Amino acid sequence: MSELLAGLNPDQLAAVTLPSQHALILAGAGSGKTRVLTTRIAWLISTGQVGPHGLLAVTFTNKAAKEMLTRLSAMLPLNTRGMWVGTFHGLCNRLLRAHYREAGLPALFQILDSADQLAAIKRLLKALNVDDEKFPPRELASFINAHKEQGIRAAQAEAWDEYTRRRVELYAEYEAQCQREGVVDFAELLLRAYELLSRNEPLRRHYQTRFTHILVDEFQDTNRLQYAWLKLLAGYGEYGRAAGQIAAAEAGAGSAAAGAPAAIFAVGDDDQSIYAFRGADVGNMRDFEREFAVKSVIRLEQNYRSHGNILDAANALISNNNGRLGKNLWTAAGAGEPIRVFEAFSDIDEARFIVDEARELVRDGVERDQIALLYRSNAQSRVLEHQLFSAGVPYRVHGGLRFFERQEIKHALAYLRLIANADDDTAFSRVVNFPTRGIGARSLEALQDAAHRANSSLYNAAAGLAGKAGASVGAFVRLIEALRRDTAALKLSEMVAHVIDESGLRRHYLGEKEGAERLENLDELINAAESFLREDSDALAEAAGDAGAVLAAFLAHASLEAGEHQAGEGETAVQLMTVHAAKGLEFDVVFISGLEQGLFPHENAAQEREGLEEERRLMYVAITRARKRLYLSWAQTRMLHGQTRYCAPSIFLDEIPPALLRRLAPAPAFASAPAFTSGYSGGYAAGRAGGNGGGGGKASGSRAAAGSTTEVRGLRIGQSVEHARFGVGVIVAAEGGADARVQVNFGAAGMKWLALDYAKLTPL
Ligand code: ATP
Ligand code: MG
Repeated sequence: MSELLAGLNPDQLAAVTLPSQHALILAGAGSGKTRVLTTRIAWLISTGQVGPHGLLAVTFTNKAAKEMLTRLSAMLPLNTRGMWVGTFHGLCNRLLRAHYREAGLPALFQILDSADQLAAIKRLLKALNVDDEKFPPRELASFINAHKEQGIRAAQAEAWDEYTRRRVELYAEYEAQCQREGVVDFAELLLRAYELLSRNEPLRRHYQTRFTHILVDEFQDTNRLQYAWLKLLAGYGEYGRAAGQIAAAEAGAGSAAAGAPAAIFAVGDDDQSIYAFRGADVGNMRDFEREFAVKSVIRLEQNYRSHGNILDAANALISNNNGRLGKNLWTAAGAGEPIRVFEAFSDIDEARFIVDEARELVRDGVERDQIALLYRSNAQSRVLEHQLFSAGVPYRVHGGLRFFERQEIKHALAYLRLIANADDDTAFSRVVNFPTRGIGARSLEALQDAAHRANSSLYNAAAGLAGKAGASVGAFVRLIEALRRDTAALKLSEMVAHVIDESGLRRHYLGEKEGAERLENLDELINAAESFLREDSDALAEAAGDAGAVLAAFLAHASLEAGEHQAGEGETAVQLMTVHAAKGLEFDVVFISGLEQGLFPHENAAQEREGLEEERRLMYVAITRARKRLYLSWAQTRMLHGQTRYCAPSIFLDEIPPALLRRLAPAPAFASAPAFTSGYSGGYAAGRAGGNGGGGGKASGSRAAAGSTTEVRGLRIGQSVEHARFGVGVIVAAEGGADARVQVNFGAAGMKWLALDYAKLTPL
């Protein structure tokens, strides 16, 4: 056991070996919170204070849960099978599978991911003849999810105006549709699991007695419903603060603490709260302290992850936020290298720079998977991917279009879902005419009407459909029935293979020009099923050998799992992900790209203080992922959503002390636009590998441009123009008003300001 505790600092040791009581570990990035939590689990088990089945641990991602189990089995001779370690969604799914009847769900209920949910809502609006311009499906989805996250059912939702009243009605219709189809969305998983425990006293008592220790990582990002669920499990029925409907429902359930409540061990960092937009509430940390009368609040202040300059940058940045719980982070590691800042002409230049730099690092011996490319928005990955691909650098995108979200995979899963649950109308609509079998929109509408009238699923309504529509839809239903019959005795991976072949999917993609990758992915799905059988012991333990249950467990896994099975597995690859997806991870080298006003901080958030503070916490998370080297970059122009944007650098760049930065001047090779480097005293002199070239001076040239205007009298920055004397040039700055003028880079003829009233410029 001493081995287990060796290497912990005194605060960490104190946290790991706390007696069984509620505790909050409040500590900054890289201070060992996750390590402490994992070690505490091992310590609790190895000292016999709890068996592996008496504790429940919540992590933020499936990846983190897997890592935790791997680390645990390395620390202890332990079979981690069946341990309750997972994400909130994963654990709730498990609870509902085990008690589906009590939860009012079919045995093989299916999970709708966000895209499925949107499709289901669109279908609903269509069936009800609701104008989707007036009630945009995406907005309706947020409306429903936000209510569920606060524990509010449609029946309890309040509406003060007609529009909201209508939305509440649609929420109720959506609830009914999901129930009829036997499907649950992500928010529903949590709400159902919460309601299950709050309404079913024997069950609640069972779990309250079973789990004597509850451990939660990333506590700052739990939402109200998750917090309420934890409280129920821990045997706390009293709500210290009005939590809306959750408190009301709970009071009705009359949950008193059953015996000794479980000890909750929560670790978190208020500065890394980045899910407020999804209902997470840092207030939970303060509530937890108060409501659970937490006696042990431990702070960890030593950072073991990052070099000094990186940590100083993070500390300086986050000090601009108000209302922090307050922490000091220090490191025993030296200052390390300065943070590199790169200003690119365009997003393409930026990507080229990053990829080139990454290749050099790999040549110098850095492991590829120790290099992370982080960005604020998923859309930014495309340019980076393109450059990586062209340069032949293996890479892996996390999040984004996850494996299980790809079109061909969703098609194959839809067939499997129909085998498991014929009432799943989302799955039915997806593949009834894919591959095409001549079922037109009109037939589908007839079917939808019939189903609506009979209040039945599409599948069941198919039998009663007459005419040509009836014949073609009937053939589809027979196909599903044949698939169900023929796969009944197969093991999961064989079943998947059979479905891919017999549904016609394989033939369809064989005939498609760009189908090769999709076929690879379909084969990867067979592999995923195979490794699910081998590895996902938890689900199997629940499924206990029943083929239908195994399929349902696999489909749940597919809905919950981030795409960790990307092609090229086994090969080390540069890691691409959004900052949100990088939470809790660490890398030797981190690139944060797109540091531009409106992009990071994001334009939706930059307007109000709260939004800006959340963006700043996001930036804090991004910076603190880096161990040794950090690059920050931005581009003067960027193509986003089909438009060229002219960008000013992010204010976050200004919030890092200049002494920590080294500004890299663009090398000529990177300049795809005519060079203008007015912000740099020395032009290219500093060089990319050179000394502190910019001397911390701001790259102000383009900021001035962005401060004025991007377009004047039909001329735009970035546009090519011709001048009778100076020749062809590119507009690099513009000013409006009565004396409107533009600055043009004419290459050899130099940089000129030209008044538009006088100069004759021909746009090219
Ligand atoms: P985050 O807030 O980003 O989730 P964290 O607080 O969870 O960070 P960990 O990921 O647990 O931090 O630890 C950061 C790094 O520091 C890990 O590589 C971990 O192994 C290492 N570390 C933590 N404690 C120690 C220690 N006492 N000695 C050496 N290394 C440590
Ligand atoms: Mg952590």
